[in-house]
Amino acid sequence: MSGTSFTPYISPVVRQFEPYVAGRSIAEIKEAFGLERVIKLASNENPLGCPPSVQQLLRDQAALAFRYPQAGNPRLVRAIAAHHGVDPARVITSDGSDEVIDLLFRVCAKPGVDNVVAFKPCFGIYTTQAAFAGVELRQTPLKADFSMDFDALLKLVDEHTAMVFVTSPDNPSGRATPRETLIRLADALPERCMLVVDEAYIDFVRAERGGEAAFTMIPVLDKHPNVAVVRTFSKSRGMAGVRLGYGILPGDLALYLWRVRLPFSVSLLAEEAGIVAIEDAAFHAETLRVVEEGRRQLETGLAALGCEVTPSDANFLCFCHPRMEKAAGVCDALLRKGIIVRGLASYHLPSHIRVSVGTAEENAMFLAALAEVLPGARD
Ligand SMILES: *Cc1c(COP(=O)(O)O)cnc(C)c1O
Repeated sequence: MSGTSFTPYISPVVRQFEPYVAGRSIAEIKEAFGLERVIKLASNENPLGCPPSVQQLLRDQAALAFRYPQAGNPRLVRAIAAHHGVDPARVITSDGSDEVIDLLFRVCAKPGVDNVVAFKPCFGIYTTQAAFAGVELRQTPLKADFSMDFDALLKLVDEHTAMVFVTSPDNPSGRATPRETLIRLADALPERCMLVVDEAYIDFVRAERGGEAAFTMIPVLDKHPNVAVVRTFSKSRGMAGVRLGYGILPGDLALYLWRVRLPFSVSLLAEEAGIVAIEDAAFHAETLRVVEEGRRQLETGLAALGCEVTPSDANFLCFCHPRMEKAAGVCDALLRKGIIVRGLASYHLPSHIRVSVGTAEENAMFLAALAEVLPGARD
């Protein structure tokens, strides 16, 4: 490179950012370790893949890719609103739910003045987008068992708190917060402060605990005007690569997000795919069944290996092992065997691993490989 360095002119906020380090691709790992098959259980993707209905749609509509999507995605908005029984005026669609989260920081909080409150650790996007928006993120630690101290959370809230973020079920623990607890929290917040509940994994809540219906905040939005819900098509709907999410927002807030959202951030194919996916009840039900069974299989298998597993209502499990002080070595050894899981050092949990629920076969292969690489296992 030659010529002027632009570094001195870059926004100081941006200069503080570290480059994003992506995980290694399946192709890279196959090549590096000479493997035929690599199993990815690192990103909580759908074990059944992309729904056949969506694959068909994408093939059928491929020729339409030259068109711009319809601004405001009205058909998709109506499909989402109908699915949840909410007023379409509350719905904003987005390029993954990451985009709604980003927009909430920019639209609802004044840079350098307002703050946002969350637990620590939290989903990385809350941290990065708060910083990018110039909004202070105040955090209180989760308890050692990953449960949430809501009194400590409330203590961080003041008259400049624009939003409180709660992920339910939480990532990386998988713990779901009862609706009554969230309602109490919302009611305890100052009027201007919004409770944002990230429900990326809510459909995986165990059937014996009442499932999604018992935990989602969507049915109580009308009664609690300071609550917002964020959802995604990336997990239970099998579309992480398509990029589609949405928010169901209080009052007139969706209108303001629509004003600043880039007009075509949801692509035409994402829009069409979302309409098909949200109506594909059979694929969704099958996903929940496979995840419920796989979660049981992994829980039993991990416990048998002496792992401590956090009770999870999501499509992943977070675990540690008394002999595994640093999880990075175990993750590396698994990688050499063709299994990608998520070490949690970036969540400040260096002794923990998060594993996504895969198919029964993938789960079994992961458990067999883990048995071989846990510290103290026979060589
Ligand atoms: C995976 C995930 C999302 C979804 O992000 P997308 O941008 O919709 O893919 C949102 N929140 C949490 C906590 C997640 O783990």
